[in-house]
Amino acid sequence: TTTLRLILGDQLNPLHSWFAEVRADVLYVFMEVRQETDYVLHHAQKIIAIFAGMRAMAHQLGQAGHRVHYLRIDDAANLQSIPANIDALLARYGASGFEYQEPDEYRLDAQLADYAAQLTVPGAMVGSEHFLTARDEAGRIFANRAQWLMEYFYRQMRLVHGVLVDAGGKPAGGQWNFDHDNRKPRRGAPPEPFDTRAQHDHAALWASIEAAGVASFGRPDSSRIAWPLDRAEALTHLDAFVQHGLPHFGDYQDAMHTGATRLFHSMLSFALNTKMLHPREVIAEAEDAWRAGHAPLHAVEGFIRQILGWREYVRGVYWANMPGYERHNVFGHDTPLPSWFWDGKTNMRCLRHAIGQSLDDAHAHHIQRLMIIGNFSLLAGLDPHALHEWYLGVYVDAVEWVEMPNTIGMSQFADGGLLATKPYVSSAAYIDRMSDYCKGCHYDKKARLGETACPFNALYWDFFERNANRLSGNQRLGMVYRNLFKMDETARAACGEQAASVRARLEQL
Ligand code: FAD
Ligand code: SF4
Repeated sequence: TTTLRLILGDQLNPLHSWFAEVRADVLYVFMEVRQETDYVLHHAQKIIAIFAGMRAMAHQLGQAGHRVHYLRIDDAANLQSIPANIDALLARYGASGFEYQEPDEYRLDAQLADYAAQLTVPGAMVGSEHFLTARDEAGRIFANRAQWLMEYFYRQMRLVHGVLVDAGGKPAGGQWNFDHDNRKPRRGAPPEPFDTRAQHDHAALWASIEAAGVASFGRPDSSRIAWPLDRAEALTHLDAFVQHGLPHFGDYQDAMHTGATRLFHSMLSFALNTKMLHPREVIAEAEDAWRAGHAPLHAVEGFIRQILGWREYVRGVYWANMPGYERHNVFGHDTPLPSWFWDGKTNMRCLRHAIGQSLDDAHAHHIQRLMIIGNFSLLAGLDPHALHEWYLGVYVDAVEWVEMPNTIGMSQFADGGLLATKPYVSSAAYIDRMSDYCKGCHYDKKARLGETACPFNALYWDFFERNANRLSGNQRLGMVYRNLFKMDETARAACGEQAASVRARLEQL
């Protein structure tokens, strides 16, 4: 008898206990299916990188003696949906059981639970052995609280997992958070560490994806993909980051520069989200670097906070709020995304770079996602659900459990402030301070009114004006509203008119 064990495209962890022994009665199943390529329009590199990782892992399992059945996207026997393929494989192998690892997306979780429940053979879900917290852990930590403060969650995690804590439960260095050290702008040519990532030629894989009719967007760059193929490559990249990037991680965490796209960010999100790397080992390596005197505490703490804090926390937010979280829209925004989200052709230099980089690399760093693309979208009143689908499609690391709370909650405040304590928006002044984008822009960063005034400026004040009922009582926005109310009526009305005119010509911006 044979048990089928399904491995999804974001479950590429060769250290899972499933693989501890080679068993003749187990068949591992991988499938490249239209169900997974088509639920939103995806960036070409995201499809290529995930399929390439699946193929590499299937090959390695086979080499280690495991039985593997791999369905390629262009395989004639591929029925292109997970249940249909499993049905066919159960029949073909006369299998007596079906097992799968806990999916991280609600969509797949529901689909596989329903599927397993109606099978005539036993179906079982096992843990994915990846996260440091259970799906419902954040929900339990925040039970009955209106606001879910990440910082509170993060401190619990530091204590529970003994990360950067001294004897007696005190935070290393006497502080839980060194965020104020991590806000330096980046001027001049940044000494970005050399990109040590291996490149792969996936032109043949890309040709078969295209031949199968899968629609996509973004630059395929299929002959030199730098996303890791497997755990070994991901580990090499982790070591290189800890060596060269981590010591400077905090310094320029929020900086943006046209000449340096990675800065000191780790580029580890794809390896983490496909589970090639375990968060525990990434955190441990970073902490060891500090203990060995290789990286300063504020950099290491800032990096660890992203993984032990934000990453686990947003997953908890996701599971506590699904289904339904994807439809939050407190501001009632419904403007469709301008077409330049798909080609980067806008005169706004910040957006041209942040979107252009996303289309070229299937990656942009946090501040580009939050304070350029997300910021503009919220100010312009773009439909948060359409924006969520764009983010889910464009980034190589986008899996719904992490993308959705970041987009709907943190970036668009569409959940009314469950996750973020205030909307993350700014005028041109912040963008100019943190980047070199405004230099050479078609728009005037200082101007608020007129054809060539930076669109962010009027949109910014108009956003707070329009939403005064909801936001003016927010303590963190006290200064913003004091400044708004100090402006005279004529200036406020002019801002409103300018913002309306900007919103009417989004396509031409
Ligand atoms: P680094 O800056 O080096 O950070 C290290 C790691 O910390 C990341 O690899 C990631 O695993 C984790 N991390 C950092 N910030 C966050 C965060 N806010 N939430 C969860 N984990 C975090 N991240 C994704 O992994 N997938 C997404 O689909 C995604 N969508 C986003 C959408 C929006 C609107 C915003 C504002 C952020 C989004 N993020 C997402 C979070 C963050 O931008 C990326 O994790 C980060 O840019 C990945 O690059 P990196 O590996 O170089 O990160
Ligand atoms: Fe962006 Fe405005 Fe600066 Fe241009 S001037 S780069 S549109 S913030």
